[in-house]
Amino acid sequence: MTEAPIDLDELRDRSRPTPPRIRPADDIASASLDQDALRVISRLQRQGFEAYLVGGCVRDLLLGRRPKDFDVATSAHPRQVKRAFANGRIIGKRFRLVHVTYGEHVIETATFRRAPPPREDEPGDLLITDDNEFGTAEEDARRRDFTINALFLDPTRREILDYVGGLDDLDAGVLRTIGDPHVRMAEDPVRILRAIKFATRLGLRIDDQTWAAMVDTVDELGRSAKPRVLEEILRLMRSGVALGAFRMLRACGALRVLLPQIDEHLGQRNDPDPAAHDRADEFWRLLEALDADVHAGNAPATGVCIATLFLRVIERAAQVDPRNHDAAGPELARAAAELLEPFALSVRLSRRDTGKAIRAIVQQRRFTQPLSKRFRPLLFARGEDFKEALDLFRLRSMAWGQGWDVYESWLERYEQARTASPDEVERERRRKRRRGRRKPKGGQTSAPSVED
Ligand code: ATP
Ligand code: MG
Repeated sequence: MTEAPIDLDELRDRSRPTPPRIRPADDIASASLDQDALRVISRLQRQGFEAYLVGGCVRDLLLGRRPKDFDVATSAHPRQVKRAFANGRIIGKRFRLVHVTYGEHVIETATFRRAPPPREDEPGDLLITDDNEFGTAEEDARRRDFTINALFLDPTRREILDYVGGLDDLDAGVLRTIGDPHVRMAEDPVRILRAIKFATRLGLRIDDQTWAAMVDTVDELGRSAKPRVLEEILRLMRSGVALGAFRMLRACGALRVLLPQIDEHLGQRNDPDPAAHDRADEFWRLLEALDADVHAGNAPATGVCIATLFLRVIERAAQVDPRNHDAAGPELARAAAELLEPFALSVRLSRRDTGKAIRAIVQQRRFTQPLSKRFRPLLFARGEDFKEALDLFRLRSMAWGQGWDVYESWLERYEQARTASPDEVERERRRKRRRGRRKPKGGQTSAPSVED
C-alpha cells in the first residue's frame, strides 16, 4: 500500500463557511416529490427552521430516476422536530433522528450534522467512530461522502443548494468525494464500496483521484464494521449491475481484501495459465446471469448470492467438474463448510444463510442425477432449501448456456411438489425408506446428510 497523502488542514478548512451555489429546480416536476416529505418540510420552515430534501433523493430526481426514499435534513434539533409532529418519534441512541410517520410511510428527518473533529487519542487515525455533532447546512453537506449525494432541495423556493460542486459533477457524470479523497476513504473505507455502487448503478465515471484513493485504502476495509461490508456486497450483487461492480472490486483490490479466495480463484491479471482465464470467464458469466435474473424481476436471496460467489471455488476445492454433477456429495459438503464457515464468521453472515448457501451448492448435483435409487424428486423438491438450490441451478444454466430444459422440468416438479397431497408425499417417503433398506447389500447404510 502506498502512503496516503493526508491533508489535515483540509479537515479544518471544511468548517470555513461559503455560500452555496443555487440553481432553480426547474427540471424537477412537483409531481415527482413526495407529499409527506413536503408536509414535513413546510411545517418546519413555517416554524422558522431550515429544512430541505437531501441526499440520494435529490441526486435521483436530478438524474430523472425515481428515488427510493425521501430524506429530510433540518436545522431543528430532534426534540424540536418531535415537538412539531404528533406523529414524530425519536429513534437511535447515538445518531438520533426523528421518524415522522404517515400510516406506513416514514419520513426520516435528521438534524444537520458536522464532521467530528480529529480524534484526540489517535490524531493520525481518521476512522470515524462518532458522528453525532449538530452543525449547519453547509457542514452537513460537507460531512457527506460524494458531491452528488450532498445536494439540498428546497421544495418551497424550488431551488437546489450546492455547497460542494455536486451539480457540476452530476452534469459531467462524475463520482467524486467531497474534499481530499484519501482522507474521506480513510475515515470510512466502506465508502470504497459505496463509490462502486453509485458508479455502476448510475453509470458514472469515478474521478481519477477518488479512484487512486480507493486503491490506496482498500486494506483498511478490514477495519470497517463487518455487517456494513456484507450489506454493501449483497447490495452490489442485487443491483442488476453486479458484473461491472465486481470487476471494479477486483480492479481496485477490494476483492483481494474482502473475498481473497475468490480473487485467487480468478488468477492473476494477465495470468498465463489458460485454466485461470477460464475460471475468471466462468465467474463473470455467472454474475452476468445474476444481473439478467435481477432484470427479469427476481430478487436473489442472501444464500443464493453467497452461493453464486463461492460456487466454483468450492467445486474446484472438491475437484468437481462443473458440467458433471455426479462427484461425491460429502466432498462438496466438506469443501463448502471449510470455505464458507470462516467467511460467514468473518462477515457475521447468519448461520441460516450460511447453511442455505452450503446446501444450495451441495445439492446442485441432484438436478442432473438419474431419477432412481433412493433419490425421490418429489421429496427433494419439497425440501426446505430447494428454492435456493433451483435458483442457483437457473443461474448456472444461464451462465453456461446448457441445462435450461432440465431447469424447466424441475421448475414444473417444484410446482407439483408444492401442491402434492399428503398421501402422495407419504407414498414417496415409504418408497425412499424401502430403497434405503434394500440398498446396503455389501455396504453401509448412508446416514442422512446435508445432500438428502
Ligand atoms: P440509496 O438510493 O442507495 O439509498 P442514498 O444516497 O440515499 O442512496 P444512503 O445510504 O441511503 O444513500 O445514505 C443517505 C445519504 O447519507 C447519502 O446520500 C449521503 O449523503 C449520506 N451518507 C450515507 N452513507 C455515508 C457515509 N458512509 N459517509 C458519508 N455520508 C454518507
Ligand atoms: Mg437512501
